[in-house]
Amino acid sequence: MNIILMGAQGSGKGTQARVLGPELNLVKVATGDLFRAAIAAGNELGQKVEAILARGDLVPDELTNAIVRERLAEIARAKAAGEVEGALFDGFPRTAAQAEALDQILADHDDRVTVVIELQVDPEKLVDRLSKRRVCANCGAVYNLEADPPAVAGVCDRCGGALVQRDDDKPEPIRRRLALYAEQTAPLLTYYGQRGLVEQVDGDRPIADVTAAIEVIVEKRTQTKVTR
Ligand code: AMP
Repeated sequence: MNIILMGAQGSGKGTQARVLGPELNLVKVATGDLFRAAIAAGNELGQKVEAILARGDLVPDELTNAIVRERLAEIARAKAAGEVEGALFDGFPRTAAQAEALDQILADHDDRVTVVIELQVDPEKLVDRLSKRRVCANCGAVYNLEADPPAVAGVCDRCGGALVQRDDDKPEPIRRRLALYAEQTAPLLTYYGQRGLVEQVDGDRPIADVTAAIEVIVEKRTQTKVTR
């Protein structure tokens, strides 16, 4: 099973992926997280992409596809060993070239995309959500100052780490990222829609309601019962 979560920045893909990954036994493939980890590690990839992320631009397809290819090889091994069910994509693919590469990589493992879930949120609310987003510098947990605040201001509920604002959650990069989504990523809904793979979910609801709606879709598409 390979599920793609699609939706503009701030639509809740990361939040849903954190719940659904363990529940469905899918390995999360979040390219943004992989790039941020590379930057934190200061490795060669991190040095290449740091300025790109800070601007809110897209990392070149070759670099992005290469890390996904690597992750999917590991996931295919774990799947063959019966350890996981597949992959849950968050923030990938974002361009037509990435979508085509993903089809090819999955085909190389005799696999395919199962369903694409589009999280729909009113564009005006996205900017508000992104500017109120805070992330734990230590464990990566995500909060919203209004909808899902931490118990103690500035402190992660899970690990006690410091909550920070991502550099690209500031007004200029937010605008850039949302524009790139509309221009490069939203057309992928047509690419997958032509194959009957797209399901829409209203993302403008409490987190648990969105999760429940996605679970219903997964059950319908895979004819399996989701254990909650
Ligand atoms: P995200 O955490 O998904 O919002 O991604 C943060 C940033 O990482 C994006 O603004 C891009 O700079 C970069 N990035 C993440 N995923 C991709 C991708 N699939 N293609 C190109 N750049 C990406």
